[in-house]
Amino acid sequence: MTVQAVLDEIRGIPGTGDVIPIIDPATEEQITEFTDAGPEAINAAVARAKAAANSKVWSAMPDYDRAKVLWKVADLIDQNAELLADLESVNTGIPPIQAQTIVKVGSEWFRYYAGWCTKIDGIARDVNTGGLTGVESHMHAYTLREPYDVVALIFPWNGPVFNFCAKLAPALAAGCSTVVKPAEETPLSALVLTRILAEAGVPDGVVNLVNGYGHTAGALLTAHPDVDKVAFTGSTEVGREIVHSAASSNLNKVTLELGGKSPVLIFDDADLDTATAMAGFGCFLHSGQVCMLGSRIFVQRGVYDRVVDGLATLANNLQLGGPKDEGAMIGPLISDKQLKRVMGYLEQGRTEGVELVTGGHRIDRQGYFVHPTIATKVDPTSSRLFHEEIFGPIVTVLPFDDEDEGIALANDTDYGLAGTIWTTNLGRAHRLAKEVKAGTVGLNCQLQFDHSMPFGGYKQSGWGYEAGKAGIETYLQSKTVWAQM
Ligand code: NAD
Repeated sequence: MTVQAVLDEIRGIPGTGDVIPIIDPATEEQITEFTDAGPEAINAAVARAKAAANSKVWSAMPDYDRAKVLWKVADLIDQNAELLADLESVNTGIPPIQAQTIVKVGSEWFRYYAGWCTKIDGIARDVNTGGLTGVESHMHAYTLREPYDVVALIFPWNGPVFNFCAKLAPALAAGCSTVVKPAEETPLSALVLTRILAEAGVPDGVVNLVNGYGHTAGALLTAHPDVDKVAFTGSTEVGREIVHSAASSNLNKVTLELGGKSPVLIFDDADLDTATAMAGFGCFLHSGQVCMLGSRIFVQRGVYDRVVDGLATLANNLQLGGPKDEGAMIGPLISDKQLKRVMGYLEQGRTEGVELVTGGHRIDRQGYFVHPTIATKVDPTSSRLFHEEIFGPIVTVLPFDDEDEGIALANDTDYGLAGTIWTTNLGRAHRLAKEVKAGTVGLNCQLQFDHSMPFGGYKQSGWGYEAGKAGIETYLQSKTVWAQM
């Protein structure tokens, strides 16, 4: 299959809603379009998932067979890696080498969760409840871990191949039936991945792909009475809407992977060259469109100027470009809407009187490219640049004097997705790891995550976890069975 075939296929999928254009963000050209699924298609997708769940065709499949299917999915992703990476690049503008890495991460996610199929278990205990009543009462109690029947999986446009795999692999390993809605900007790779799942042996009805806007297709799904669980990755604002929707419909269970405004603390005893380089990549990667990026950097005062200079040099040397531009390290913003949002924050920064050490402007070429921007002289008590998730290539850099002030600034945020500490003082590193209010902390490393370790947000960055054992637990309910002995 070719990229062109996928562009043609999506155009032909029927729907009853608006026609939604898909724009190549590196060229601003429309590459295809598709039709918002509409309520009938959403209801039909949920009904198919419910029928599959009721038939137990997937959940009752022997666990080692389910594992083999998921392992085969991983192999087929690898076999289709070039196509998937090309789709990722054409749809998001990300450089090819980064797209290829995303695809590899996706297939490994399936291999990891293939292993979990055979390891789902509960606990068993003999219990004598007689101590409470005075009457001997011998019980055997055990727990069953059961999949949710119908799970809606909704995710954003940054890294669509990864987001698809990170949600589908654990949901399928648990035995759930699913309805999948990718972001309206990036629906292409999900077509190929859904076909791969079928080819690998995932039975009909277990994975149902729907496309459309969030406020139409997404909202219909999250309020649907037959959806038992919603696993969502996206903005905190929409996460809140999804919680409201669950509360006013069937109280479906909700897992949320939301926004971030992650701090990076650089102490004066750090390996400053490494810390500066990593902090720079760690805020500008993918044009700042990665949830766990360190978009607030704090530098101990004695080395502040040196680090700011180093960050500025790095920002000015980062080669921006589309997937076809050789040597490009940073792609465009995803859309005109995102571009306007980022430009709005730059305007806001000027109003606030912040100093833009570098960047602050759009690049003069086709595509939604904004120069990596470093903002200093930011007032943390009032600055929107400091507090709001921008999801663009803008980082604030502030000085601090000691550990207490650094941690106070780091935690001065509604978000809690990640944090980083650069220091050669190991005692300080581990001590402060406990102080950072975030779900992931890097000590002398940044942007680390892996399928084997839980990932989730403190505060308004989310509910629940992805990856690791916690990632499959998300898709399992626990039932306690009592047997009179
Ligand atoms: P978004 O919240 O606008 O959209 C995410 C998805 O939700 C899309 O598929 C969208 O169509 C859908 N959606 C929108 N409104 C909806 C509604 N009312 N009901 C149901 N679904 C709806 O987010 P975005 O702009 O696509 O992505 C960027 C955001 O995602 C950032 O905030 C980023 O931090 C976050 N993100 C978080 C993680 C994480 O793991 N914590 C990972 C990636 C991205």
